[in-house]
Amino acid sequence: ITGETPKEALPVLKKARKNHLTFTVDLLGETTLSEKEALEYQNRYLELMQWLLKDSAKWDDSPLLDTDDLGPIPKVNVSVKASALYSQMSAKAWENSLAEVKTRLRPIFQFAKENFIFINIDMESFDHKDLTLQIFKELISEPDFKDYRHWGIVIQAYLRDSYDDITDLVQFAKERGTPFTVRLVKGAYWDYETIHSDQQRWEVPVYTNKAESDWNFECCARLILDHHQNIKLALGSHNVRSISATMIYAEALGLPKAALEIQMLYGMADPIKKTLVNEGYRVREYATVGELIPGMAYLVRRLLENTSNESFLRSKFSDGVDSMTLLKNPGENLTESSPLPPTKPGQFYNAPLLDFTKKENRKNFENALEAVRATFGQTRPLVINGKEITTGQILERENPSHPQEIVGKVHLASNIEAEQAIKAAHVAFASWKKEPAEKRAELIEKLAQLIERDRLELAALEVYESGKPWVEADGDITEAIDFCRYYARDMRKLAQRQRVGGVSGEVSLYQYIPRGVTLVIAPWNFPLAILTGMVSAAVVTGNTVVMKPAEQSSLIAYELMRLFKEAGCPDGVVNYLPGLGEEVGEYCTGHALVDTVTFTGSKAVGLHILEKAGKVMGGQVHPKKCIIEMGGKNALIIDSDADLDEAVAGVIYSAFGFQGQKCSACSRAIVLDEIYDRFIDRLIESTRSIYVGFSEDPKSYMGPVVDREAHTRILSMIEKGRQESQLLYQGDVPPEGHFVPPTIFGDVDPKSSLGQDEIFGPVLAVIRAQTIDHAIEIANGTEYGLTGGAYSRSPMNIEKVKNELDVGNLYINRSITGAMVERHPFGGFKMSGVGEKTGGPDYIKQFMHAKVVTENTLRRGFAPSEES
Ligand code: NAD
Repeated sequence: ITGETPKEALPVLKKARKNHLTFTVDLLGETTLSEKEALEYQNRYLELMQWLLKDSAKWDDSPLLDTDDLGPIPKVNVSVKASALYSQMSAKAWENSLAEVKTRLRPIFQFAKENFIFINIDMESFDHKDLTLQIFKELISEPDFKDYRHWGIVIQAYLRDSYDDITDLVQFAKERGTPFTVRLVKGAYWDYETIHSDQQRWEVPVYTNKAESDWNFECCARLILDHHQNIKLALGSHNVRSISATMIYAEALGLPKAALEIQMLYGMADPIKKTLVNEGYRVREYATVGELIPGMAYLVRRLLENTSNESFLRSKFSDGVDSMTLLKNPGENLTESSPLPPTKPGQFYNAPLLDFTKKENRKNFENALEAVRATFGQTRPLVINGKEITTGQILERENPSHPQEIVGKVHLASNIEAEQAIKAAHVAFASWKKEPAEKRAELIEKLAQLIERDRLELAALEVYESGKPWVEADGDITEAIDFCRYYARDMRKLAQRQRVGGVSGEVSLYQYIPRGVTLVIAPWNFPLAILTGMVSAAVVTGNTVVMKPAEQSSLIAYELMRLFKEAGCPDGVVNYLPGLGEEVGEYCTGHALVDTVTFTGSKAVGLHILEKAGKVMGGQVHPKKCIIEMGGKNALIIDSDADLDEAVAGVIYSAFGFQGQKCSACSRAIVLDEIYDRFIDRLIESTRSIYVGFSEDPKSYMGPVVDREAHTRILSMIEKGRQESQLLYQGDVPPEGHFVPPTIFGDVDPKSSLGQDEIFGPVLAVIRAQTIDHAIEIANGTEYGLTGGAYSRSPMNIEKVKNELDVGNLYINRSITGAMVERHPFGGFKMSGVGEKTGGPDYIKQFMHAKVVTENTLRRGFAPSEES
C-alpha cells in the first residue's frame, strides 16, 4: 500500500517514475454497503484524479513511460472497481445495476477524457464479471467516450470463459473502431471462487489446475496480440515464463516494445521489473492507496497468491526451483481439470440454487413469472383419498404486492371434510405401513425430482402468493427438494434393523415402525419447504398424512399435493385439507385417530396444540406425539472488534431478508458500546440503500409482508415501539400493497416489548451492551432459543458465545438465517420448540416408534453361531 491518502502516496509514485516505472492507482477501502458510501467512493476517485492531475503537470516527460506505439498515453492512470460505486450491484437486478453503475462511472469517465487520464475498470469476483464487462462496453460506446482510447478492462485468465470473453471483446473493439486496453491477469480470487462454487454446487468458474491458467493466460495474450490494432495488451503478471512467452510472440508479430505494457504490483518482484525496464519495456505498477485495516483483504490476497505452492515468485525466490522447470511450457502434458464441483462418495449435497448471473436463468425465471401470472384466478379443490372435493367455501388469495390481484382461490374444508380426510388417512395407513422403506424412499425421491422439474413455476407462484423475492423463493424450493432427498436417504439407513447388545444366545434387533395418522400443520413463511419437510418425513417413515397448510399458502400446498399424486402416492396417503386453523386445525388436533401432530408456527398456536393434543380422547390408541416448532426473538451480537463490512451486511440480510418473516430472522442486534455508533451509522445508511418493492421485480431486496393482517399487526407493534424506544430509521415503501418499511430502533431496553416479543416483520431492535458477557446475558434474556450469532474477531469471545448462547442454531461471523438441510439441522428449544432438528439425523425418528425384538436363540443348551 503506497499510502493512506493520495498525498502520502504521491512521493512513492514519483519515486517510481524516477526508477522508470509508471503506475495505476487503486483506492482501497471498506466494502461499499450503502449509497452514501458509494457516492463517497465516487468522490474519492474524482479527488484522486484531480490531485494526480495537478501534480502530474510538474512531472518530466518520459518517452518510455508516456508513449505507446500509437502515440502519447496519459501519465495519470486510475483503476476503478465497479462494485465500489453501487452498493446494490447484483447480476439478478441486471438492468438496474447496469444503469446505476454507468451513472456513477460517467462523471469519472468524463473527467478522465477531458483531462487525458486513463481509466481501467478492475475485475472482482466472477458473479460480477459479465455485468462489469457489459457496463464497460456500453459506457465506452457512448458518443462522449467512443473516440477515446484510454480505457481499460481486466480479463482474468483463470476463468474458463476468459478466452471467449476476449473473442467477444475483439469483435466489439472492431465495431467500436477506437482501440482500448485489456489488462490480462490470472486472477486473485481463486480461493473464493473455488469455495463459493463448491458451497453452491455450481460449476467451478476457474481452472483448478494452475498450469491450465498459465497456459490459458498465454493463449489469451496471443489472441489479444493478434488483434493489436483493436485491443492493446497490458500484461499483469509476475511470472517470467508468462511474460517472456508473450514478449516473444509480440516480437514475432513484429510489434514494437511500446505496443505491450507490463503491469506488476507495487512492492513486489522488483528485480523482474528492473530487468524489464532495462529491456526497454513500459512497466506499470499497480499502486494501492488506502488505510491498512480495510486494505487487509487486499494484502492477504496478495500474500496468498504469491506464497502459494504454485506461485512463480515463491518457486523462484524462496524455493529455488531451477530455471528450466520455471520456464517450462505450461501447455505441455496439460491435464485438464473438471469444471464440476468436487464430489465425495456418500456425501449429501444440497440442490443448487439458481445462478442468476446466468442470463438464461434470469430469462427463464421471468418466463415462469409470466406463465404463472396467466393462471391467476384459478380455483383449487381439496384432495381427499385421491378425490377432488369442492365445498363452495372459497378463500381468495390476494397478491401481497398488488392486493387487487387474486393469485388463486381454494375451497376451504369444514370439519366434515376434516373427518373424511382423517378417516381416509386412517384406512390408507393399514396398507402404507406395510410398504417397504425402499418403496417409500423412492416415492419421495420421485417427488424431489418433480419439484426440481417444476422449480421455476413453483418459485414464481411463491413470488405472487407469498411475496417472496426471487432468491428467497428459489431457496424455498431447493430446500423442499433437499428435505425429500435427505429423509429418503435417512429412511434407508434406519430401515436396516440394528443389532443391539452383545451376549451370545440372544439376538436383539432395534427397528423402527410407523406411528399412524400424522396431522401436518404448516406455516406460510417457507410455504413449500417446511410443508414438504414435514409431509415427506411422515410419508417416508410409513405414516399417512392430513396436510393442513397455512391459509396464506394453500396454493403452493396444492402444487405439492399434485406432485405427490404424480409421483405415484397411493390414495389416502396424503390428503390435502386447506382450511382455517382455528376450525379444521383445531378439529383435527383433538381427533382420536390422529397419532402424531407436527406443527410449525407461532408460539401461541404451538402451545395450544400441545395442550389440546395432550388430552386423550376415547378410542385413541396412543397419546399423541407432538413435534412443535415455534417462534424466536433471535439476536446477533456485534463485538467491538467485529468486521463491520461483514456484520452490517449480515445483520441486514438476517433482519430484512424476506421482510423479517423467517423464524430465524434477526430481530435484535446487540452491539458493544465501543463500536455502537459506527455500527449504527453504517447500518442505517446501508438499510436506506436497500430497495423495497414488488416481489416480482428482481431488484427488490424486500417485498411486501404476507397479508393485510400481518401488515396491520406489524405497524401497530412499530407504533408501540415508538412509545418506548427511539426510532432510528424507517424506509420508504410503495404506496399500495402490504409493504412495511424496514425499521430500526436504537438503544432498545432489552426488557421492553421490542426487546422481547416476536414481531415477525422487518423490525430490528438495536441494543447496547457494555461487555461480551453483558451481550450474551441480554441475548439469552428472552423466552425463546431458536437462532443466534455473533460477529467477532476475538477467539476468546467467540468461544464464550459458542459455550454460553442458548439457541438451537448458533452462527459465528455469518448471517443467522438460511439454514440448509444436512449442513445446518434446524430447530430451537425453550419456547421455540419441542422436537428434533429438521434436516438432521434425528428428525424422522420422531415419526416412528422404536421396537426391539429379542429372540432367545438358545435351544436346549445349543445356540447357532453368531454369524448365522
Ligand atoms: P401460525 O401459528 O399463525 O399458523 C401456523 C399454522 O397453524 C397455520 O396452518 C394455521 O392455520 C394453523 N393454526 C392456527 N390456529 C390453529 C389452531 N387453533 N389449531 C390448529 N392449527 C391452527 O403461524 P404462521 O403465522 O403461519 O407462521 C409464523 C410463525 O411460525 C412465527 O412465529 C415463526 O417464528 C414460526 N415459525 C417457526 C419455525 C421453526 O422452525 N421454529 C419455522 C417457520 C415459522
